[in-house]
Amino acid sequence: MKKGLGFIFLFFCVVILLNYLVLSMRSLHFPSLFTTTSNNTVYDGLPYVDVNFFSPDGEGRSYITQGYGVTPYAYLYVNHWHDGIDIAANYGEKIYSPVDGTVFATGDQDNYCYHLGFGKYVAVKDDAKDTVFWYAHLGTIAVSPGMKIKKGTAIGTVGTTGYEFGVHLHLSIFDENGFSMQNRNGCGPDPTGKDIDPIPFLKTL
Ligand SMILES: [Zn+2]
Repeated sequence: MKKGLGFIFLFFCVVILLNYLVLSMRSLHFPSLFTTTSNNTVYDGLPYVDVNFFSPDGEGRSYITQGYGVTPYAYLYVNHWHDGIDIAANYGEKIYSPVDGTVFATGDQDNYCYHLGFGKYVAVKDDAKDTVFWYAHLGTIAVSPGMKIKKGTAIGTVGTTGYEFGVHLHLSIFDENGFSMQNRNGCGPDPTGKDIDPIPFLKTL
């Protein structure tokens, strides 16, 4: 009887482990397989997003590897909420601003909580709309606070800093009203404010 219970316990452990592995693998990216343009509107249930982060001519197209809000991985985050979207990208690819704006902040959370936070980040206040674009896990930063940038300015490159399983760009969009950088989670200055769903917002650009 005890042996039977042990077996059932082991079985559930294996199921949980496999589940975890599948979730982990889904966050790894194989961009060479998926960067060709396609008429598909979804990949693995998540929408493609037409972005010009990766090409100044606005022809960049990529797919979202993690959506906004309550996601399969949200339990990993503070408040169990993914406050932005993750976009598939190649390491070292330049990230171009989709808007004219002013650089609000730059920094590296790895200096405070190594590989547990956003890593290298750039925050840009959008000139036209009352929003702040928050780019994270960057490899390099190409701008500095106070700098005026134009649509198409490279703000940095895609990297693997902070807490992440695979190479991607994390993008959050915050309401500019009430946005600030606060020391909250032991990771140094952290974006604090009301995040909005980036997917419908990006379509308005
Ligand atoms: Zn993310």
